[in-house]
Amino acid sequence: MNVEVLKLHTKHPFVIARGGQSDHRTVWVRLTDAEGQEGWGEAAPSKFYGETVESVLAALEVYGSMLPTDPFNLEDAERSWEAKLRGNGSARAALSAALHDLVGKRLGVPLYRLWGLDPCLAPRSTFTIGLDTPDRIKAKVREAEQFPILKVKLGTDQDIEILRAIREATDKEIRVDANCGWTVKRAIRMLPILDEFGVTVLEQPLPPHDHEGLAAISAQADIPVIADESCLVAVDIPPLVGKVDGINIKLAKCGGLREALRMIAVARAHGLMVMVGCMIESSLGITAAAHVTPLVDIVDLDGAALLVDDPFVGAHIEGGQVTLPTGPGLGVRRR
Ligand code: MG
Repeated sequence: MNVEVLKLHTKHPFVIARGGQSDHRTVWVRLTDAEGQEGWGEAAPSKFYGETVESVLAALEVYGSMLPTDPFNLEDAERSWEAKLRGNGSARAALSAALHDLVGKRLGVPLYRLWGLDPCLAPRSTFTIGLDTPDRIKAKVREAEQFPILKVKLGTDQDIEILRAIREATDKEIRVDANCGWTVKRAIRMLPILDEFGVTVLEQPLPPHDHEGLAAISAQADIPVIADESCLVAVDIPPLVGKVDGINIKLAKCGGLREALRMIAVARAHGLMVMVGCMIESSLGITAAAHVTPLVDIVDLDGAALLVDDPFVGAHIEGGQVTLPTGPGLGVRRR
């Protein structure tokens, strides 16, 4: 196993309700099999979920000592990592992606094809406008000209000014993510305002454990309410049934591609919508998540599109449309 820390930079500081920055570090993991074939994955640690680059490197030392001798043992590999050391979702997700990459390369097929998926079914991705002043937000909306759907970060006392600034700049579809920044009262007061500005999706208005609050908001909302910070893995889904309209899957939360597929199955069994999202990460991590897009309703995979120095080429979202690479495995290469 070879591990390298990547330094990534966003064009603008990426600010959400709990803060932000322009420098982001992720970890590039490379596994090499006996024939010299390489499988790649990326860990994008999030402090909110208790991870840093340092914790990823430490966790990878633990997981790296228990890699499967046969990369096709995907299910068992994911389960044994979690049993050995819980949490560390992004570290496990990087290894999971690397094993899937290796398996696809051995078979000579792209991962989506191995899963029997039609890449043409991928929904269009949103492009995120982070928190900023109204003037700078208008400039960002102009820069995002090629993207047909915008995702707007809210959750401060500037919410209405931000929505107004965006609506003055564009008539595109907008979706809102409050990143846990509202109370129930505030969210219910915001619902008619979201409606007035033509918002079509509301993501995570409340702190993670306030399921009853989410239910109260969903009961009054005409638009889908999606759980992100409230829903990390498949077992988090049943308690949210009837309280939200959908769930947002991220590899850095769920810890691997097998678990992501399980989350999709569980959500569908409960009649929930499925969204796939990302952290600020390069096209390597984005591409691993992009292989599940033919199975979901909402795509928010702009993490690499926000970068000025993406070191990889893989899935991309030009014009909002998710395009999966056709090479074997993840289909990612160095830029
Ligand atoms: Mg979110």
